[in-house]
Amino acid sequence: MNDTVVITGGSRGIGRAAVKAFAAAGYRVAVIYKNAEKQAEELAEELKAGGTDSEIYRCDVSSYSETGLVCKKILERFGRADILVNNAGISQIKLFTDITEQDWDDMFAVNMKGTFNFCSWLIPHMISRKSGNIINISSMWGVEGASCEVHYSASKAAVIGFTKALAKELGPSGINVNCVAPGFIDTDMNKELGGEAAKMFIDEVPLQRAGSVEDIANVIVFLASKGAKYITGQVINVNGGIV
Ligand code: NAD
Repeated sequence: MNDTVVITGGSRGIGRAAVKAFAAAGYRVAVIYKNAEKQAEELAEELKAGGTDSEIYRCDVSSYSETGLVCKKILERFGRADILVNNAGISQIKLFTDITEQDWDDMFAVNMKGTFNFCSWLIPHMISRKSGNIINISSMWGVEGASCEVHYSASKAAVIGFTKALAKELGPSGINVNCVAPGFIDTDMNKELGGEAAKMFIDEVPLQRAGSVEDIANVIVFLASKGAKYITGQVINVNGGIV
């Protein structure tokens, strides 16, 4: 039976591209989405039409109880979860002095606790099978730090620390844990940044363009593949050379 992949934030952007890339590679896919119901349903239709064994689940990744219920449903439906892609995330551009306690808590609730939640529910199952693969989506700002995105950068740096520590603990159980740290990728997340600011940033990228969602999805699928089995605890920077 083909491996099952669970992808959070799978209805749009990088997550959606990863869903499609896994489907094209023959995986069974469980897609987690929060708000974009119409997009998620369209994606579900597309996957079914393409013959992919798949299911969509609405879930707020920041809720421990909701993620628990969804993981239970996924394990009942697919029998196992071989690969987990923690992709759901939020960002915000603000001066540090304008960041409220709520902004801070929301950022960590989705970007870090969301990753913890899905790991908490699925890792025991992976340990018992002595096999698994976890791919967390960080950011170049988690590696480098970004001005006016202190809370975002800190949450994404936390994801890197989490990944490295978990990889050490789970290696003996046959579970790989890695991070992908994307650069500037052309998605809704960057809409807030004006055209001129985006252009100035891209001018600094050695490869002279924004990344596409496929640029990231391809690396995620590679990390999940058998060919990447000796890679764990790593941060794979996919940023056109800027970091
Ligand atoms: P996006 O905004 O299009 O996608 C984010 C996804 O996360 C959406 O599907 C959204 O519904 C989901 N999400 C947000 N909060 C959620 C919650 N509480 N519960 C469930 N799902 C939730 O942006 P994207 O660019 O595709 O981002 C995907 C990941 O890549 C994020 O973790 C982001 O931080 C990271 N990233 C993006 C860039 C970039 O330039 N676009 C760069 C570095 C890292």
